[in-house]
Amino acid sequence: CGIVGYAGGRPALGIVLDGLRRLEYRGYDSAGVAVVCDGELLTEKKAGKLANLEKVLSERAAEDPAACGASPLGIGDGTTGIGHTRWATHGGPTDRNAHPHVSPDGRVAVIHNGIIENFAKLRTELEEDGVEFTSDTDTECAAHLLAKALAELRAAGQPDGPQLLAAGMRVVCQRLEGAFTLLAVDAGVPGAVVGARRNSPLVVGRGDGENYLASDVAAFIEHTRDAVELGQDQIVLITADTIEITDFDGQPASGKDFHIDWDS
Ligand code: GLU
Repeated sequence: CGIVGYAGGRPALGIVLDGLRRLEYRGYDSAGVAVVCDGELLTEKKAGKLANLEKVLSERAAEDPAACGASPLGIGDGTTGIGHTRWATHGGPTDRNAHPHVSPDGRVAVIHNGIIENFAKLRTELEEDGVEFTSDTDTECAAHLLAKALAELRAAGQPDGPQLLAAGMRVVCQRLEGAFTLLAVDAGVPGAVVGARRNSPLVVGRGDGENYLASDVAAFIEHTRDAVELGQDQIVLITADTIEITDFDGQPASGKDFHIDWDS
């Protein structure tokens, strides 16, 4: 329902949570975050209000104050992150169905707005391949497909880096039917967030040494008013200093630049 992504130089967690709070008016039943910190993926998710998620994060901080940068919210000082508030369509509003959905090796995290129409077929195909699902969502198949695509690209010699993440997302999008805004991060690709959209909104916020992705500009308006609206069937890769847009085939594309001039 609400989607936020950040790549920059500041700790991502607080920025992502603030962004989710600004999208609260949309209504949601669960919330979750993923942060990449020192080559590790740290995630937390919880059914209910954002406050429930924040409570678990502070408990984590109290239990392990040294965890990856000792952030007061217990999930590290990583400067790349994504966050989601969910409005359940497939699978009840439980902790396990909350986003992000993470690959079995704990390296890839995906969040999603919308409905993947062909998820049953994809799930069967993945299960036949030995993948074990841990949720009832349509979204989880995108996480497995992405992890698989990244592993295959790495095996084929593509080096780790933002381009790998974008290439993996292209493979996934070519398999999906329906409506989706997807964001993903990979522990092996610090500093980059990839997003994709079809029949569901995604905007980029252009900052100074940092960039944002969100389902609605409200998420980043306190940081920047310089935005790009993605077109249909586009993929966007952000790092602290770059925004790169392509279509699902990898051809360069461009979104629609605009300035947000309404009062926040
Ligand atoms: N279909 C997904 C789910 O049920 C995403 C729902 C949403 O847009 O929040 O988990």
